[in-house]
Amino acid sequence: MRIVVLIKEVPDSAAKPSLNIETGLTVRQETDNAIDEINERALEAALRLAEKSENSEVALLSLSPASGEAVLRRGLAIGADSATHICDPLLVGADLGLTARALSASLQTTEFDLVIAGNSSSDSGTGAIPFMLSEILGIPCVTGLSSLEHVDSQSFLATRNTETNVETLKVAYPAIVTITESFPECRHPNFKGILAAKKKPLQAHNLSDLGLEINPEAVAYSVVLSASQRPSRAAGVKIVDSGSAAKELAHFLMSKGLLDRG
Ligand SMILES: Cc1cc2nc3c(=O)[nH]c(=O)nc-3n(C[C@H](O)[C@H](O)[C@H](O)COP(=O)(O)OP(=O)(O)OC[C@H]3O[C@@H](n4cnc5c(N)ncnc54)[C@H](O)[C@@H]3O)c2cc1C
Repeated sequence: MRIVVLIKEVPDSAAKPSLNIETGLTVRQETDNAIDEINERALEAALRLAEKSENSEVALLSLSPASGEAVLRRGLAIGADSATHICDPLLVGADLGLTARALSASLQTTEFDLVIAGNSSSDSGTGAIPFMLSEILGIPCVTGLSSLEHVDSQSFLATRNTETNVETLKVAYPAIVTITESFPECRHPNFKGILAAKKKPLQAHNLSDLGLEINPEAVAYSVVLSASQRPSRAAGVKIVDSGSAAKELAHFLMSKGLLDRG
């Protein structure tokens, strides 16, 4: 079984990411980048599935700036067998459409049974990429899973917890799934894994390797026109009860249009 884990490189949450107001893009340093936590869980899920079936391979796929290579090496140290890094200067500012086209072009060059993605990234968080890949590749997309179980070479079982019920689905390979934080945390890389990762295959692909022709004048279908820092929250109003708190509270609510005088 060949499992591909989609890895999004995100600014490390401890590094307080900021926005470049001119470009509308997240400021990404060469360091301080990490595998998105939900994607680490996806990798753990893939490794557990692979451990239970013979001749399995776990491959990583990421579209990210040059710094993404170090992030993929960490995934290889954790236990993945190989990695593909899509990186091209024309992809700076790639929107969802372009990202999905590039990822699917790469997936079309290889064989796979299962693609595991996070339900939503922690920085942009549209949660749209997996659906877009499913549409382009013409394979089922099963989302928001809380567990995964390999059945046989034809199918797997997937569990999804909704607000009212727990659904169990039987899905045919090949498919794409998205997982939630119900999945276990990822194991840590050990020293042996870190050394082994240096020798594992990590392929770099640019757009022409993928056969994608992009007009540099119209790289993305959508572009950020303006971006501004959200104003910080104003301090709240504290009403101390010295006998007239109810009246003051009513006045406050009326001033905000939340309470009618009548
Ligand atoms: C040079 C360069 C610069 C970039 N700069 C930015 C940036 O500043 N901000 C930004 O948000 N994005 C950036 N990207 C990546 C790309 O634009 C986003 O990945 C894309 O828009 C996905 O949106 P999302 O985070 O809402 O995905 P979601 O749909 O929320 O992600 C859901 C899941 O899809 C998978 N996925 C999403 N994106 C990728 C990816 N790139 N590679 C592999 N798997 C993925 C993951 O498994 C993820 O958990 C950059 C890419 C390149 C090449």
